Amino acid sequence: MTHALSLAEIAAKLQGYDPQALPAQDVLTFLSQLVTTATDAEEVNVFDALGRVLSQDVISPIDVPPHDNSAMDGFAFDASQLQNHQALTLNVVGTALAGKAWQGQVQHGECVKIMTGAIMPHGLDTVIPIELCQSHTAHSIVIPAGVLKPGDNRRLRGEDLKKGAPALQRGLRVTAAAAGLLASLGQPKVRVHQRLKVAYFSTGDEILSLGEAPREGAVYDSNRYTVHGMLQSLGCDMIDMGVVRDEPLLLEEAFTQAAQTADAIITSGGVSVGEADFTKAMMKKLGDVAFWKIAMRPGRPMAVGRITQGQKSAVLFGLPGNPVAVMVTFLAFVKPALLQMMGCTDPAPPLVRAKTQELLRKKPGRTEYQRGIASRTPTGELQVVTTGNQGSGVLSSMTQANCLIVLSHEQGTAQIGDWVDVLFL
Ligand code: AMP
Ligand code: MG
Repeated sequence: MTHALSLAEIAAKLQGYDPQALPAQDVLTFLSQLVTTATDAEEVNVFDALGRVLSQDVISPIDVPPHDNSAMDGFAFDASQLQNHQALTLNVVGTALAGKAWQGQVQHGECVKIMTGAIMPHGLDTVIPIELCQSHTAHSIVIPAGVLKPGDNRRLRGEDLKKGAPALQRGLRVTAAAAGLLASLGQPKVRVHQRLKVAYFSTGDEILSLGEAPREGAVYDSNRYTVHGMLQSLGCDMIDMGVVRDEPLLLEEAFTQAAQTADAIITSGGVSVGEADFTKAMMKKLGDVAFWKIAMRPGRPMAVGRITQGQKSAVLFGLPGNPVAVMVTFLAFVKPALLQMMGCTDPAPPLVRAKTQELLRKKPGRTEYQRGIASRTPTGELQVVTTGNQGSGVLSSMTQANCLIVLSHEQGTAQIGDWVDVLFL
């Protein structure tokens, strides 16, 4: 990967850049300039393309569907015979099945029994669904007046995708629907960006790995598990580096190894102001790293930059230690940056508005991400309450929440009944 700009260059372009009180919007702007797309592409089977990002437009090599065909089970006929206010009687002269075209020639006064998906017989343009017939036998049908227009229940060749037209755009993350669409083109392979490699570890002497015996003052590592889950949902290649103790040698080894193997490094802990540990010092020593206080809650401290090892370098996201702060800073900042590195250009999901059922006290001058439970009122409006204790260490608030209530930098207290922005999780 090549990186065009240094941190100082990006900072110089950001008006009023204040690393001691950085607005959330500036964090996003900064990160969007720090990261670049990992451009390497590879070819994968359509089944394996799910969640991957297309590295080039997919041009349809065929018309989909390849023929005009019936959208219903019924009878195909030539609609020029329909007359106003008059039923039409037609003789049934054959059957067209899906995958088995009817080859004959239909005369005036005749129709062909047809199944959904069957090719429209030559000269016929309309299908009457069987249940709309006034009567039908093996030999003839009666079409009542006024139930059909010419062209009804016929699917046109190429109405889904036209040969030579872009079926899917580069930058799209392949969903279940997109995988189906790719398969409908008849091409077994598709070109996608290589998976982004992300190394992650937790820092702190008080952090226990699962399986270790509890001891006084220590807590079990939850951040690696939430980070793992969030990375998994982005489709990253994950390199789990465990818990790294607060010792210069161990930290140096971890950062060095991560920079050699990964495109991005995510750490948690050790970046707050009062930190009497070696994490920050090691980040500084091994890379170009800025230490921010973000005007947000939860999640104030964050380190951002690049760790370099010889020719290799990896983008560093040094997240705070508190478990809720880790998830919120990941969702707010790291996720969009990683998607950009993955080459993904899908628009971010929109914030929606819900009426708060609670007073939400807030001072202007910072962005708040409160954990919320949104629901529908009987009249169909969206309403939201908080999960209660909003402490940045209260991870249960994240498990109860179905959304984050996003209170913008400028806004103050939201009164009961005010509309507030929510981001569904
Ligand atoms: P720090 O940012 O290192 O000062 O950590 C802030 C708080 O988060 C402290 O209470 C830490 O014990 C806690 N913490 C840090 N890392 C983790 C982790 N991996 N899992 C759970 N809690 C953590
Ligand atoms: Mg710490």
